Amino acid sequence: MTAEGSDWLKDYFTLKNVGRGRFQLEAARWMNTGFSTLHSRLRLSASHRRQIMKPNSQALKDRFSHDTEREFGGTLGAVCIPIFLPLTVLFLICVSQSPEASLLHWPPPLPSTDQLWDPLAPVLLLGWIALHALFYLMPLGKISEGLVLRDGTRLKYPINGFHALCISSLVLMLLLGLGAPLGYLFELLLPMAVCAIAVSFLLSVYLYIRSFWVPSYALALGGNTGNPLYDFFIGRELNPRVGNFDLKYFCELRPGLIGWVVINFGMLMKEVELRGSPSLAMILVNSFQLVYVADALWNEEAVLTTMDIVHDGFGFMLVFGDLAWVPFTYSLQAAFLVLHPQVLSLLGAAAIVALNGVGYYIFRNSNSQKNQFRRDPTHPSVSKLETIATATGKRLLVSGWWGLVRHPNYLGDLFMALAWSLPCGFSHLLPYFYVIYFTVLLIHREARDERQCRAKYGLAWDTYCRRVPYRIFPYIY
Ligand code: NDP
Repeated sequence: MTAEGSDWLKDYFTLKNVGRGRFQLEAARWMNTGFSTLHSRLRLSASHRRQIMKPNSQALKDRFSHDTEREFGGTLGAVCIPIFLPLTVLFLICVSQSPEASLLHWPPPLPSTDQLWDPLAPVLLLGWIALHALFYLMPLGKISEGLVLRDGTRLKYPINGFHALCISSLVLMLLLGLGAPLGYLFELLLPMAVCAIAVSFLLSVYLYIRSFWVPSYALALGGNTGNPLYDFFIGRELNPRVGNFDLKYFCELRPGLIGWVVINFGMLMKEVELRGSPSLAMILVNSFQLVYVADALWNEEAVLTTMDIVHDGFGFMLVFGDLAWVPFTYSLQAAFLVLHPQVLSLLGAAAIVALNGVGYYIFRNSNSQKNQFRRDPTHPSVSKLETIATATGKRLLVSGWWGLVRHPNYLGDLFMALAWSLPCGFSHLLPYFYVIYFTVLLIHREARDERQCRAKYGLAWDTYCRRVPYRIFPYIY
């Protein structure tokens, strides 16, 4: 052991303000964690260690405590969701490709093994993920810092997701120019979804195992319950990294999100193959969702303050959501339109474009207002807004978008979700799956966020709720 290492241990065990019980608990944990954990702790840089040693009892409590409250139905949810949701993805793709496209048709269309497997699928999927890993590592765009972590440090993230989208588009155009049959993605949807599900499970197992080698302050508070099923599902480690490569941040907005618009484009090309030109409905769905993805990547830095990055561990829930659920269920409208073409009047199209525009306006402006306020409350665009103080030193907006409802960004997002379904007409429920699921997701997410905000801000949050009584829909909810 190096001198530096033993000093650090001495510091650690003579920390002021650590209660005897917690000291004993931590000491016992240390005895049990074994050499490798000890070793990995000792490899921390000297400056990192100094920050960890700050003798602040609250910071220490935060650092080592863990949240025992279970979300998503606890253990039962953690067992059922990883079985049920992958099957749902496959079921929805099968339904979208069946002549009836009916969610209620029984028995549901069952795929043959031939439909489930294509050797091209793993090659394309792994190649796509590797390509995006390469884009991630490119020295393009700026480097941004995340929020301060429990050990007092801040991680650095490359902000080059929009570059990745542009390069992906160029690659796609090149492939198109070379005559690549992009419409074949329609036939590959099921086998690719199977591979994405398999990759999600494998990556989650890797993440779960590696989380036992990281220090306790690197674990997500909510993913550290000691129940292996729940922790595997919800995610133990907060920011798993291989060197500087941040696995959660990478998966959050890149292979899955950009993959979604590539799948959409493949569906458009399939329509061209089948009917000679893309339909207005297909063009609208492709354009709306491309704008949404481009916006997310243009504002990539904002993801650094979201619940996913700041609070949630990286486990099956996020891995599967990012790599399988988003690309393969968010592209359902485009997949549906391939075999179920819809006639859309110009007036109808104009109304849908207007709805998407209003949704986007609310979504973008409310998100930007909060991000600006959190980054620099003195900025002229937000400095005149009314706010209330909280015990944490942070203030809460009670006017502007955040004075209208407590989650105006969710409201805008839901308007857009509806606009993506409407081009598919009213004859089927399937294209509305996204807006229905998304409403449930955002209501649940809003409740989770409220719980966290109430824990963070206490009475100030209650005051905010009294001032802004509606959560998402003004005068309704
Ligand atoms: P939000 O961007 O809504 O952020 C919630 C946080 O904002 C709170 O925890 C709090 O954090 C802060 N906050 C809340 N109220 C106020 C206020 N009055 N004044 C100042 N700060 C406040 O979180 P999400 O990550 O849920 O959503 C981000 C975007 O992503 C949304 O537009 C959402 O619709 C979208 N989204 C899309 C999904 C998809 O699948 N398409 C899935 C999930 C989200 P603090 O005070 O600590 O800053």
